[in-house]
Amino acid sequence: LDKQVPQNNWEKGNYINYKKMSENLSIVRRRLNKPLTLAEKVLYSHLDEPETQDIERGKSYLKLRPDRVACQDATAQMAILQFMSAGMDKVQTPSTVHCDHLIEAQLGGAQDLSRAEDINKEVYNFLSTACAKYDIGFWKPGSGIIHQIILENYAFPGALLIGTDSHTPNAGGLGMAAIGVGGADAVDVMAGLPWELKAPKVIGVRLTGQLSGWTAPKDIILKVAGILTVKGGTGAIVEYHGPGTESLSCTGMGTICNMGAEIGATTSMFPFNDRMYDYLKATKRQSIGDFARAYAHELREDEGAEYDQLIEINLSELEPHVNGPFTPDLATPISKLKDVAVEQGWPLDVKVALIGSCTNSSYEDMTRSASIIQDALDHGIKAKSIYTVTPGSEQIRATISRDGQLETFEKFGGMVLANACGPCIGQWDRRDVKKGEANTIVSSYNRNFTGRNDANPATHAFVTSPDLTTAFAIAGDLRFNPLTDKLKDKDGNEFLLKPPTGVALPERGYDPGQDTYQAPPEDRASVQVQVSPTSERLQKLSPFEAWDGKDAKDVPILIKCQGKTTTDHISMAGPWLKYRGHLDNISNNMLIGAVNAENGKANSIKNVFTGEYDAVPATARKYKADGVKWVVIGDWNYGEGSSREHAALEPRHLGGLAIITKSFARIHETNLKKQGMLPLTFENPEDYDKIKPSDKLDMELTNLKVGQPLKVTFKSEDGKSWSTNLLHTFNEGQLEWFRNGSALNTMAKKAQA
Ligand code: SF4
Repeated sequence: LDKQVPQNNWEKGNYINYKKMSENLSIVRRRLNKPLTLAEKVLYSHLDEPETQDIERGKSYLKLRPDRVACQDATAQMAILQFMSAGMDKVQTPSTVHCDHLIEAQLGGAQDLSRAEDINKEVYNFLSTACAKYDIGFWKPGSGIIHQIILENYAFPGALLIGTDSHTPNAGGLGMAAIGVGGADAVDVMAGLPWELKAPKVIGVRLTGQLSGWTAPKDIILKVAGILTVKGGTGAIVEYHGPGTESLSCTGMGTICNMGAEIGATTSMFPFNDRMYDYLKATKRQSIGDFARAYAHELREDEGAEYDQLIEINLSELEPHVNGPFTPDLATPISKLKDVAVEQGWPLDVKVALIGSCTNSSYEDMTRSASIIQDALDHGIKAKSIYTVTPGSEQIRATISRDGQLETFEKFGGMVLANACGPCIGQWDRRDVKKGEANTIVSSYNRNFTGRNDANPATHAFVTSPDLTTAFAIAGDLRFNPLTDKLKDKDGNEFLLKPPTGVALPERGYDPGQDTYQAPPEDRASVQVQVSPTSERLQKLSPFEAWDGKDAKDVPILIKCQGKTTTDHISMAGPWLKYRGHLDNISNNMLIGAVNAENGKANSIKNVFTGEYDAVPATARKYKADGVKWVVIGDWNYGEGSSREHAALEPRHLGGLAIITKSFARIHETNLKKQGMLPLTFENPEDYDKIKPSDKLDMELTNLKVGQPLKVTFKSEDGKSWSTNLLHTFNEGQLEWFRNGSALNTMAKKAQA
């Protein structure tokens, strides 16, 4: 284990440290003296202080030393702006930035990319110069989607990576603990501080049997999502194991881990196996594969390791699933979809079928879909639905272009989009239906919240495997079951589609395509970071105010949210993405998607001082101008969805004090703390029902202490009042953030001391 094996083929001097990890594990083993899960092994081998760290699953806060940081371009802007204000000359942990979120799908790959380069010039220049300045690897627009680039180039078994994107867990397909975080966490780690994570529980998923026919790796996570629901993985790492894992390709395991984000899991992981070795070899990292083999006993669970919950799935019996609409945990097996769709009144015409994205754009996915399409073409039929293909990386695009699958997609009538997020993140100039028109789309993506893809709340979005997505494109109908239903060929003869066949790794090796990487230069000191003071898209940050040290009195409720309030509702994506680096401008989208419990409407709330109804951001700005702090009341799992820290920065910027909910999604709760806000939960969730939007709150902030409830009094307009306890998960260090105004203020204060 003493060898010097580089982490990747792009950087010099960053080595894999299995020796240190092994030493850390020995210390933890001696202390805990019990068999460990893989998730525990990977996390505990990255402990900052393995001798003294408290370790109790679901309770302790672990201080960890991640191996790497990855940021996508939407979240990188704010992360780097924050890193700049910490005043360091380079990142202390190897980091990369990936340009993938800002490219809108309209006409097809090449044109869309060149338009994006033009529109986003200012942002790309900022990121490219900041990366050069601070020693960060920069993947230019067109290079591909962050998670695919990480899997192809940076992931290695047993590593710990944090990424400012919720689908970072994709790299679990290569045995890595890859965890989605807010930009503020990334800033900490870039600045060399340990990263804090509440020791996750571990959910075991034991796989037996073998996939075959139309069932794909995606169906495993679609099934798991159906079992665990969007809340079921909260605070836990999902760890797959068992003989069934051997039959899955590395990229297939990536798909499963990727979509673990939809059940709220901290991350998902697979144990190191030969399929991972093959993938490392195919991506020119055989030396890492060999090194991992030498350390293999620590890259899987110990015999007898205990899980907090265990799910068993027999892959030989698993049916293909279709999940949705509007939520990724509504899982329907294909054999039942026809009946359920009719019964529920879901629009049956499949208007658009979209394959690819970070979830499902491997060579295997592409070859399987191409095999289905070839079968259809051989019968003289083409796509009935609009069909789009999003390659996850330039390497995938170039390889499927060389090997002919891309041509097959085009013959079928498919449009190949840029190697970027595109419609998956709402970057889609969709024109085939009008806003408000009910319609169905099916994708091989991971997320299908209302309005996510096309900003049309009436679009019924379903997620499934690329195989079924392609089959739906051929049939154009949601009732189609390719396992049993026949299609008509060009002459009207009936035929059954053949089950897909695919190849996990390209026989001729990957074609790297165009060189899209920018390494940091030798001379970084002379690089000037470009931020214009008149920019509409980038704004240097000013520190938030520290807490005034007093209890809060007569605090109004800005909005009492009803039902799902995801980070998309709190800080909408789509057109707003362009303001990611400009806090004041992007704050104009704050909570505009949340439903007001008082009137059932979005973005219409009553100003409690004037009685007038106005937009949420406008009302918050009025309160702020009058020096009035406010709170938000929320429902279950508030802040689920993507990791965007803007959803925490915006309420803070517009004068928010606390968000009070029945429960929080993990990343969002931490993000709120980092920005100096108070995420609080009801001790009695029924209290939510007692609150009137016109109530005002008194909060005993001077009594805010670790592990103790916070007393709050709600006062209604008629003079009546009632008191209750609110809970919080602050530890002492996090309370400092609140007192100082933010984690960044705390960091700057320490740097000055
Ligand atoms: Fe991009 Fe969609 Fe993947 Fe997020 S989930 S990284 S938006 S492709």
